[in-house]
Amino acid sequence: MTEFTTFEHDVLVIGAGGAGLRAAIEASAAGVSVGLICKSLLGKAHTVMAEGGMAAAMANVDDRDNWKVHFSDTMRGGQYVNNWRMAELHAKEAPDRVRELEAWGAVFDRTKDGKILQRNFGGHKYPRLAHVGDRTGLEMIRTLQDHGIHQGIEVYMEVTVVTLLKDGDRVIGALAYEREHGRFRIFKAKAVILATGGVGRAYKITSNSWEGTGDGHALAYRAGAELIDMEFIQFHPTGMVWPPSVRGILVTEGVRGEGGILKNSEGKRFMFDDIPPLYKDQTADNPEEGWLYTQGDKNARRPPELLTRDHVARCIMREVKAGRGSPHGGVYLDIAWIKEKLPNAEEHIKKKLPSMYHQFKQLADLDITTTPMEVGPTTHYIMGGVRVNADTQMSTVPGLFAAGECAAGINGANRLGGNSLSDLLVFGKRAGEHAAIFAKENSSGTVDDAEVDQAVTNALAPFEREGGENPFALQHELQDTMQDLVGIVRTESEMQQALEEVEKLKERSEHVHVPGNVDFNPAWHTALDLSNLLTVSEAITRAAIERKESRGGQYREDFPAKDAEFGKINIAIRKTDDGSMQVSRVPIPEMPAELKQIIEEMG
Ligand SMILES: Cc1cc2nc3c(=O)[nH]c(=O)nc-3n(C[C@H](O)[C@H](O)[C@H](O)COP(=O)(O)OP(=O)(O)OC[C@H]3O[C@@H](n4cnc5c(N)ncnc54)[C@H](O)[C@@H]3O)c2cc1C
Repeated sequence: MTEFTTFEHDVLVIGAGGAGLRAAIEASAAGVSVGLICKSLLGKAHTVMAEGGMAAAMANVDDRDNWKVHFSDTMRGGQYVNNWRMAELHAKEAPDRVRELEAWGAVFDRTKDGKILQRNFGGHKYPRLAHVGDRTGLEMIRTLQDHGIHQGIEVYMEVTVVTLLKDGDRVIGALAYEREHGRFRIFKAKAVILATGGVGRAYKITSNSWEGTGDGHALAYRAGAELIDMEFIQFHPTGMVWPPSVRGILVTEGVRGEGGILKNSEGKRFMFDDIPPLYKDQTADNPEEGWLYTQGDKNARRPPELLTRDHVARCIMREVKAGRGSPHGGVYLDIAWIKEKLPNAEEHIKKKLPSMYHQFKQLADLDITTTPMEVGPTTHYIMGGVRVNADTQMSTVPGLFAAGECAAGINGANRLGGNSLSDLLVFGKRAGEHAAIFAKENSSGTVDDAEVDQAVTNALAPFEREGGENPFALQHELQDTMQDLVGIVRTESEMQQALEEVEKLKERSEHVHVPGNVDFNPAWHTALDLSNLLTVSEAITRAAIERKESRGGQYREDFPAKDAEFGKINIAIRKTDDGSMQVSRVPIPEMPAELKQIIEEMG
């Protein structure tokens, strides 16, 4: 076999976003050796882009808040197909995880009496998002990274994992390559944690960074792990739509949390026209009440702009389709109007939404303190991912754990904004803790040299071919297919067509050719990403076809209503022995009576 440099750790964490860093810190604190691999430089993971905040029922701004309300909001948002145990753990543990972050040095915005300030966000009954202006992810990453580095975690930057290594049923490491010079590396580990983030790059319009190519989803699937909820993609209602070069970049929900309103080209605040029955009692019935809510009036109900993301995104699509959109195919998001209410509106907007101010000023030459923004839906988050045990975060494959966006369960059919950052902390910690326990209880496995040689041969194959397909072109075709045929509004016939397209792209991807060599070669990286994106796209499409109803992130024009039977199951995806993708329906375990009662009491 070829000689490779081998690194060995007790726990290997793949991904250095919030989930990976928090997991690495916890495993390291348990006294095991930890290696942390990431595709970009440390501090550049996608989490750094998070804006609005992290949800935790600390009750600093509204003392009526507590874990039960947060649990109930999360379950309602997820339309009750969530893993209820994960939702429970998350709601209970998030406040401690946020306070811990503060103790490690995170400088949050403050209430007048010096507590961590919390802001309103869609689907959360009370102001719940701990934040740092609209740069919360940056503060989170900075704090975790600083803490982790001083704990002696070994970091491998600009390294991409191409396959997980197994010994029998167990995962025992990973094969990776250095992005700069293409050298392959073997990482041996007693336990491996996937924290690779999302899949947004499977779509044309996305808020996700270049790293979001679904690597962890695909690695887990190929290693035999089960994926669930892959049909549930979150299209965030407000991405930039103009100019074309910035289309998809996120406009934080914090804009609406601070009083921003949505209007169509006729100047109408259309969100008041369509309030789902599930949220009727919690939603303002006039603009003044909505405004008072955003200003902290405890007797007011939330404005309809702060309904869940799936609903707001569909309402925007409806306006655009009906010809009431903005010139570039979106609608208007107006925060400038608050000057009618606040004498110092301009400074207030700049203080509360500094990144949004600069983003629009620099990228669109637009001043959000005077002019409404043009916004439209953008692919933002995947609720689906690796199926894990709620308490330990271990997948269905021994030794393989997952946390953060690449794991599934807590969000059900739709994630509430702010629940991801707290999910990263709560379940990152749990994954690190339990991976360390697993590592202590198990010996190292044996690497199969033939498996490694085969994986390297596969990875280098694009250099061997003459002529052939261009990886960038195939990726674009895939993104167009997913955007057009498995997007916000879905039908069986279009999704079947998407499956056929994905099949053809899979075949063509076998003929991808990249010129040059392994040094600094983006075409090669794209060729390798492509196979992950194809796997993930197939999984999304097959799961979406199987769920013959509309719920949360999945809207089927041919099945526009919710179906109670589908409310009892998750859709699972597995790789069969013959290599094909198997779709099955997995019953959701019965919720314990005390949790059911909480949901009933919260209304
Ligand atoms: C613009 C924007 C704003 C957001 N704002 C908020 C917010 O305010 N509140 C909130 O709760 N959520 C927010 N979200 C969602 C949230 O930021 C993400 O869900 C979350 O940060 C994902 O974190 P993660 O740790 O799971 O993965 P990521 O932060 O995506 O990190 C993934 C890591 O895995 C590495 N990786 C991937 N593949 C490989 C591989 N093959 N080999 C090696 N390493 C690999 C990457 O290099 C990276 O280090 C926002 C999302 C976006 C796009």
